[in-house]
Amino acid sequence: TFSSPANPATPASAHPATPAAVSGPSFQQLPLSEAMQANLQTLGYLAMTPIQAASLPLALAGKDLIAQAKTGSGKTVAFGLPLLTSLNPRRFAVQALVLCPTRELADQVTTEIRRLARAEDNIKVVTLCGGSPIRPQLASLEHGAHIIVGTPGRVLDHLARETLNLEALQTLVLDEADRMLDMGFADDIAQVVAQAPKQRQTLLFSATYPEGVDKLARRFMRDPQEVKLAERH
Ligand code: ADP
Ligand code: MG
Repeated sequence: TFSSPANPATPASAHPATPAAVSGPSFQQLPLSEAMQANLQTLGYLAMTPIQAASLPLALAGKDLIAQAKTGSGKTVAFGLPLLTSLNPRRFAVQALVLCPTRELADQVTTEIRRLARAEDNIKVVTLCGGSPIRPQLASLEHGAHIIVGTPGRVLDHLARETLNLEALQTLVLDEADRMLDMGFADDIAQVVAQAPKQRQTLLFSATYPEGVDKLARRFMRDPQEVKLAERH
């Protein structure tokens, strides 16, 4: 567990020249492909935010991880890079699943993963959220996908219809775990996880860490490393 950093991350895209973004450790010290390093530079991601610096070395080494840091601290990159690194683009099967509480968040995560995935050719990301028509989702899935980003209920629905299977899953991400629990998704998450291979990496991200999130983590994770950046008051 890490203590609060001297310089908590600011949403760096909103303030590209803030000292917090510029002075953090460089992405270049991470074991990433040259193409990915170049892509990060193109995206303007030069220095890691504190949660990225604390979690990426562990997640890229394949550890299960519980990561807690406030909204806007750059958590998407902290799980996006590990899931892309584990992925085999030549294997056209679902290798990563990111569960999010809402469609809006799933769309944001999808956009960010697509930007990060530009370093690789032809990685397909499909978003599966409730409240969206199912037909276009069925059509996208028919053509296959590498990465699914979705809400637990709709992902479960596709698993039940057998329009989605998780046999090739390598990385499971529970994003905004606290909000997913608040929204009553605990049972749906459990049912999704039950259909994922036991051999996998599980990454849990949350802005807060109430007891319910801790219970969820203990249920689904193997000897997780913990990275918690406390809020400054
Ligand atoms: P969180 O999930 O913690 O709320 P996000 O992943 O949505 O945070 O990131 C917040 C913003 O910070 C996004 O606009 C993202 O593009 C930007 N960002 C993330 N990491 C970096 C970085 N290392 N340098 C600059 N900007 C970053
Ligand atoms: Mg987030």
